[in-house]
Amino acid sequence: MGRAFLYVILGGGVAAGYAALEFTKRGLSPGELCIISEEPVAPYERPALSKGFLLPESPARLPAFHTCVGANEERLTPKWYKEHGIELVLGTRVKSADVRRRTLLTATGETISYKILIIATGARALKLEEFGVNGSEAENVCYLRDLADANSLVNAMQSCAGGNAVVIGGGYIGMECAASLVINKINVTMVFPEEHCMARLFTPKMASYYEDYYQSKGVKFIKGTVLSSFEFDSSGKVTAVNLRDGSRLPADMVVVGIGIRPNTGLFEGQLTLEKGGIKVNGKLQTSNNSVYAVGDVAAFPVKLFGETRRLEHVDLARKSAKHAVTAILEPEKTGEFDYLPFFYSRVFALSWQFYGDNVGEAVHFGDYSGSTFGAYWISKGHLVGSFLEGGTKEEYEAIAHATRLKPAIEDLAELERQGLNFALTV
Ligand code: FAD
Ligand code: NDP
Repeated sequence: MGRAFLYVILGGGVAAGYAALEFTKRGLSPGELCIISEEPVAPYERPALSKGFLLPESPARLPAFHTCVGANEERLTPKWYKEHGIELVLGTRVKSADVRRRTLLTATGETISYKILIIATGARALKLEEFGVNGSEAENVCYLRDLADANSLVNAMQSCAGGNAVVIGGGYIGMECAASLVINKINVTMVFPEEHCMARLFTPKMASYYEDYYQSKGVKFIKGTVLSSFEFDSSGKVTAVNLRDGSRLPADMVVVGIGIRPNTGLFEGQLTLEKGGIKVNGKLQTSNNSVYAVGDVAAFPVKLFGETRRLEHVDLARKSAKHAVTAILEPEKTGEFDYLPFFYSRVFALSWQFYGDNVGEAVHFGDYSGSTFGAYWISKGHLVGSFLEGGTKEEYEAIAHATRLKPAIEDLAELERQGLNFALTV
């Protein structure tokens, strides 16, 4: 049994949705494109799961956040795919791929063949078991990667109002979920191994602002240690968390955000891998000409830094997907992907954006006791990264523009004095 398509997108997440829209904008005939996804729903804006979806009042629910509403573009409902003759194969895992034969084998036993494949398999959440701790299967231990996880998290929150949650991990999931738990009136203790939250991006000074803010909302921090075991009741629910530093935290629920691994498994031994992802060139093309990779799974050349990176953020998923589609449909007109890394987060009344690279020396600016402040990163005499909390649309555009220009910086003290004004006038 089998079907054949001109184009197949493997994975039905953010990148898949944006790629589908781009295909239709540039000319796609009915029956040419197929999207295969393990998830039972059409592509949606994954960032909503740790934000609007978790709100106690008027939470975001599908179909409201199908792609591509996150970029103020059309909302692609299942009906839209049907109208455009795009085959959505949902709730279906691809269990093997044969790049040489250009076929995918699904868990339901169907062989789907393609002329061109776009790999958009994203990533999976790391499990505590991979760090030697058992208990992930307990119903009140929550991870957050897909809609099913988000529904479980909402159920867990609803059954522990006024209770205690332990959040494991001080990265994006930890910070955003901790805020949502507080808004749901749950007491939160965050536990992570680093000295401060968001260690991969924030400087100690920046982290201290956010930690103080969280503490003012009642969040407790336990830093520099990790979970060693769970305690369970007779029904298998977690009742407490034991930490390696010897402390014990009673818990009605646990949220785990300890990082991800890209879903490359189907292609290991068939495509070139790098930095944990599938290596692509500036056209998002892998080591096989008929196969492209986009989003979290792609290790791509960041022209601005002159090196290959893998980035786990939604803006990259959207833009790499669009670029791959233009490279497929209009190869002569499509140049090299020239991407400015962009990350953001929104929690409580806070909102920040970051552009570029956080390497070299950080120069902080603005009022760290107020609500608008930021930092620039200077490496080898050039501004390479910019962060801003509480900015306006114009100010965010200015830091993005300044970062892309990579201006030479001779005097760090002068840059600090100018602060945001530097980006606004450069
Ligand atoms: P995904 O969106 O993860 O999609 C991958 C798809 O592939 C899934 O549908 C999966 O089921 C499917 N798949 C995988 N393997 C198979 C297989 N073998 N067979 C069939 N289907 C398969 N980024 C930001 O910049 N800002 C944010 O605020 C933000 N918030 C986030 C909040 C949450 C809760 C999460 C989990 C991520 C968030 N991110 C955010 C990151 C962002 O969502 C990802 O970078 C983005 O979703 C990556 O898109 P993708 O298409 O590469 O992968
Ligand atoms: P992150 O990589 O952001 O953070 C993981 C955190 O867990 C780090 O603090 C890490 O520390 C810590 N950690 C690692 N191992 C352990 C352990 N054994 N015990 C306790 N803590 C541990 O990943 P997340 O899980 O937070 O996020 C998953 C994905 O979702 C990422 O791709 C992220 O980009 C994306 N996301 C993005 C958002 C955004 O952009 N606004 C929002 C939500 C999710 P260490 O650094 O030492 O490893």
